[in-house]
Amino acid sequence: ADTSSVQIAVRMRPFNEREKKLKTAKCVEMVGQMCTVTDPESGKERQFSFNYCYDSFQPGSEHFASQEMVFRDLGISYLENAWKGYNCSIFAYGQTGAGKSYSMTGAPGQPGIIPRGLAEMFQRIDANDDPDLSFRVEVSFLEIYMEKVRDLFSATPTAGSLKVRESPKLGIYVEGLKKERVACYEDVEQLMELGNTMRTVAQTNMNAVSSRSHSVLTVLLTQTRINKESMTASDMTSKINLIDLAGSERQGKTGAEGQRLKEGSAINQSLTALGNVIEALADNCVASASGKKKAKKRLVPYRDSKLTRILQESLGGNAKTIMVAAISPAADNFKETLSTLRYANRASKIQNVAVINESPNE
Ligand code: ADP
Ligand code: MG
Repeated sequence: ADTSSVQIAVRMRPFNEREKKLKTAKCVEMVGQMCTVTDPESGKERQFSFNYCYDSFQPGSEHFASQEMVFRDLGISYLENAWKGYNCSIFAYGQTGAGKSYSMTGAPGQPGIIPRGLAEMFQRIDANDDPDLSFRVEVSFLEIYMEKVRDLFSATPTAGSLKVRESPKLGIYVEGLKKERVACYEDVEQLMELGNTMRTVAQTNMNAVSSRSHSVLTVLLTQTRINKESMTASDMTSKINLIDLAGSERQGKTGAEGQRLKEGSAINQSLTALGNVIEALADNCVASASGKKKAKKRLVPYRDSKLTRILQESLGGNAKTIMVAAISPAADNFKETLSTLRYANRASKIQNVAVINESPNE
């Protein structure tokens, strides 16, 4: 078993058109692993340090973090872990329009961590010349929208919600969720396109089109090794969860009303639950690090939402986890940015214990 903290990467995007037009001030600075935000009203500075700080504010500037750089750090590290048989997950957190989907999926001509990772995965598989080693890749794609779990690979939308279940053998899984076997990168690309058109999107004032749902792409990588002498085969499976969370902004600023407001609170139910899980885990890790025998462990409320149930293994469990906290550089987003950085800071206290998932075939 291998204990490691949740790795935190904070990424700042460029000004968007709205911010440029308003001639907004910039309230975030990044130097090395330090990220400093300045309260535009009081001028007070707050500093945070993270595993990675990606300054993607100004293309062409000296420390500009491109999609490629982000992938080289975060993407390659999850692939390496997957190859060793660890579960891993990357989740993107932040307010709507801060750059979560840009980091995970990317934009035209600027692929993000997911497409780069899958392309690299198939390159590595194709480069394998060990005849006793074979690979199987399966993907599933789901959305959590208003606490309902939907299969994004299913052309016929399910009435109601898919059920999240747990079994000793399978761990936590979504019952009836389609698992598609893919043989090459193009297969995945097609499936993702289908899945993304199935996603629920709506207009809000914050951003032209913003996703009000959480999406989870799961990639199962199975390596089967044949032992010719003993005539046996053994599997090593890694589950990779790639999660694009809904916007973390609070109500009010989005101008949400009616249906949107109802959605907001359901989204917040999952995100609030995620916050509570992160807080409990961080407290428990801090408590056990203090070495006090009497330190009481808090119960981690995974069961409070669909999101935390599905992420249970990724948080404080059997996985290597990276959180990408996406932030806006603009002063008028200061409060949201500060709240995202605090959230990320809390998450950085969580320790995960990952084990290699090996099992002899029956
Ligand atoms: P979110 O998924 O958090 O709501 P998006 O990823 O959709 O936000 O980003 C909002 C807009 O900002 C998009 O047009 C996106 O292309 C752009 N954007 C986000 N991050 C970057 C970045 N690092 N570099 C360039 N453009 C970005
Ligand atoms: Mg998005």
